[in-house]
Amino acid sequence: MVFDLVPFSPNELPSQILLRHAEVLMLTCHKCGAQKPATDFPPYHGYRRPCRTCINAASRERYAKNDHRRARHIAIMANQRAAKLGHPPVDIYVVERMLREATHCEYCGCAETPENPFGLEHRQPLGRGGTQELSNLTVACQRCNFAKHTSSEAEYCMWLRGIAERFSLSPAEAGA
Ligand SMILES: [Zn+2]
Ligand SMILES: [Zn+2]
Repeated sequence: MVFDLVPFSPNELPSQILLRHAEVLMLTCHKCGAQKPATDFPPYHGYRRPCRTCINAASRERYAKNDHRRARHIAIMANQRAAKLGHPPVDIYVVERMLREATHCEYCGCAETPENPFGLEHRQPLGRGGTQELSNLTVACQRCNFAKHTSSEAEYCMWLRGIAERFSLSPAEAGA
């Protein structure tokens, strides 16, 4: 293969010339075997290189398999936040079990996906009089967690129902 690395214009930067080079240079992914332009590969100083699609798929898979460590991490982070607000910690193993056994989000009812993972949720936020009691703890998806923010369970569910009714959606579809 011959590469024409002559600049298009005298103003073309060396990096732009290299990028044009990378677009015509086809590399083979050692994972999926597909031939793709070098721009689809991360800078990788090795002989066997996977493409970005394969790298992303592998990291998603790793993330999904690692639910044990992820659950522990969530519990530890939640306890750190609670300690700052003067609340006692919750048992890490209890949180871990709640997260691993949860099959759906408490608020919108969706299933867990790598894009929308489950997290620990305080029905009544700690900052608004909520406690670390088990009765105040549940599992919610990330979308609900972000959208709920500092609203109480009742406030958030009302908001979710309002959106669902307005757009004739199910609460899971509205949980954005
Ligand atoms: Zn690949
Ligand atoms: Zn949800």
